Formats: sequence, structure tokens, C-alpha cells
Amino acid sequence: MIGKRTIRAFVVVLATVVTAQVRASGLHAVRYVMGTWCDLVIFDPDPDTEVAESAFREIARLEDVLSNWDPASEVSRLNASAGRGPQPVSVDLARVAEESAALCTTTGGAFDPSVAPLLQAWGFYTESPGTPEPATQTAAASHVGCDRVSVQRDPWSIALTDGAALDFGGIGKGYAVDRALAILRARGVTRAKLDFGSSSLGFLGSVDGGWPVVIADPRDRDEPLLSFRVAEGAVSTSSQRERSFEQDGRRFGHIFDPRAARPVESRLLSVTVAAPRGSTADALSTALFVMGATEGTRLIARMPGVSAVFVEQGAGGLAITTAGKLARLSRLSRAH
Ligand code: ADP
Ligand code: MG
Repeated sequence: MIGKRTIRAFVVVLATVVTAQVRASGLHAVRYVMGTWCDLVIFDPDPDTEVAESAFREIARLEDVLSNWDPASEVSRLNASAGRGPQPVSVDLARVAEESAALCTTTGGAFDPSVAPLLQAWGFYTESPGTPEPATQTAAASHVGCDRVSVQRDPWSIALTDGAALDFGGIGKGYAVDRALAILRARGVTRAKLDFGSSSLGFLGSVDGGWPVVIADPRDRDEPLLSFRVAEGAVSTSSQRERSFEQDGRRFGHIFDPRAARPVESRLLSVTVAAPRGSTADALSTALFVMGATEGTRLIARMPGVSAVFVEQGAGGLAITTAGKLARLSRLSRAH
């Protein structure tokens, strides 16, 4: 297998070449971070390549804080000390945990980072997930809930109840988008786009008519399905297909309904959320995937500046539901 470092090294070379070619009109750099390809486009004329580097360095740093795949990451170390009282944590881990805890309440537990024991029981931290034994499932389910985690300020600390564990896979990329764009802004960049394999997108500055966003057909990601425009902010898409396995004719994916302690099984194929911040867009796309279009639309109605597109498998083809304001929404292909 090609190691992450090899891929990173290769991409640094590639990005440098690409960058050199388009330097006069802007900068395009790509890096493998947080388990996916991340594309950064800076539209300002003649940008400094070091600025792009600092944005990627920030994302890599956050990966070391938030990754559940790395036993040495800060969240993995915190999880290992569950049941031992409040543990001092970095400001990034504290902020992500605090926002996640708030969203756990707002979404009635649909978004809940304490799903980690379930992901573990179903093998989603390995390359070969599968249905757990009933006893393993029951034990994992007993550790899930918004009340398993408490975040304290001044100084920042997090306490997990015995057996509980956190997973920020549903919010981490969005938080990284926010932090990376903040760095670009602080370094004087006025217009940029950051794209994590189209699952989390962030925009800095504005363009005439708004930034175009394309939602892919969830059945065939190469086919564009819908487009709309956003003024600024972030967009995130969740789908069960990203990581899933099939058993006895049923498909189980990596998005869990914490209230049922099982992977979500529904007719939903994807949920896209536009929000002012990346962390909110990312967490809500996961939450709305759990809640579904009806309950999800009611939640969006209470959140100003947030909108969503639900793509479902209907009886005669794709069924599309929208919530909140979406500028210039148009269908790019016939839903069938
Ligand atoms: P992706 O990681 O593909 O962008 P999402 O943003 O929807 O997709 O996040 C899915 C990830 O979120 C899962 O892989 C898991 O780590 C975590 N997760 C799964 N179910 C939940 C949930 N109900 N609440 C919070 N996080 C979840
Ligand atoms: Mg998400």
C-alpha cells in the first residue's frame, strides 16, 4: 500500500508544478489530508505559495488533534482516559467538543459525537466493517448519549463517562475548513475556495452572483444533479455510500442514528447543507441525514442562514426536498 507520507510528498511536488503554471492568475494546490484529497484555490493575483502551505499545515495539525484513526491523536488519548475525570485539552479539541455538545442538544441527539463505541463495534475503524455480536452491540449502545461528555472552560477540560468515546468524523473537516480559511484571511487573501473531496467546501470572500455549488447524483458521483449559489460560508454533503458494507441484501453505512444505536437505513441518498460556518454545515449534514427530510426541514426552519437539500430514492426516481433559502437552484439532470 502507498503510505500517506508518500502520497503527501508526491502531491507537494505535483502542487508545486501546478502552482508554478498558474501563478500569474492565482494558485491551485492539492494535498492528501484528513483521509481525502483537499483542493485549495486562491483567486487573488500572484499569491504567495507559502500562504497555501500554512493553510495545509493547519489542517494537518488538526488531523493530529481530531483523528480517530491515529491512536496518538489528542482525541484518541482523551478517549483512552474515559472515566478518569476531567482531562486538560487543547483549545481546538475543546471548541469542537463544545459545538458538538450544543448540536447534540439542538438536534435531539441526531448529531452525537459519542457514537464512537458504535462505530468501533461495527468495525468502521477498520477496512472491513460488519455487524457486531448482540452483546457487543448492547455494550456499545449503553455508552452513547449527549450526557456522556462534559466540557469545562477556564481552563479547558473534557470529562467522559467510563466506556464513552468521542468521534469527530462528522464535524472535523468542516472545522478544519473554518480554521484554514481564517489563516488565509489573516494572511491577506481576499478570495479563495477550499474543497475536501466535495464533502466539505468553504468559501472566502465573494464572487458576482455567488459561488456556484454542484450537488452530484449520489448514485453516480460523476453526474451533476443540481446547482445553486452561495454568497459566502460553507457547504457540506453527507451520504451513507462514502463508507458502507452490504449484508443479507441490506446496506449499512458509517452514519449512525444514535437514538436507535444503529446505522441509518432510509431512502435518503445524500444531504447537502449550506451554512455560515464549515463546522455547522458539516455537523448538520450528518444530523439531517439521521433526521430525514421531514424532521430535518423543521430544524432548518429554526436556523437562520442555513439551508439544505435532501436527495431521496423515490418510487419513480430521485425525490428532492429543499429547506431554507437556496439561490438560483437548478436541476442539471433529469431525476429518474
Ligand atoms: P464524511 O466524513 O464522509 O464527510 P459526514 O460528515 O456525514 O461524512 O460524517 C460521517 C462521520 O461522522 C462518520 O464516519 C462518523 O465518524 C461520524 N458519525 C456517524 N454518525 C454520527 C452521528 N449521528 N453524529 C455525529 N457523528 C457521527
Ligand atoms: Mg458531516
